[in-house]
Amino acid sequence: MSEVNMIKCACADCVCVLPVSSALERNGKMFCGKSCAEGHNAGNGCGHVGCECHG
Ligand SMILES: [Zn+2]
Ligand SMILES: [Zn+2]
Ligand SMILES: [Zn+2]
Repeated sequence: MSEVNMIKCACADCVCVLPVSSALERNGKMFCGKSCAEGHNAGNGCGHVGCECHG
């Protein structure tokens, strides 16, 4: 049995699910990457395949 906990990125538009160990924490929420963690304030998506989030 695996100990890997999978979580969904806290970004509302993001569909990414990733292991907790590789998530990026920001303000107590877990994100898949820097773009999501910063609310896409640079206008870029998370860059993950199949995900179209841009904040
Ligand atoms: Zn995403
Ligand atoms: Zn994300
Ligand atoms: Zn996002």
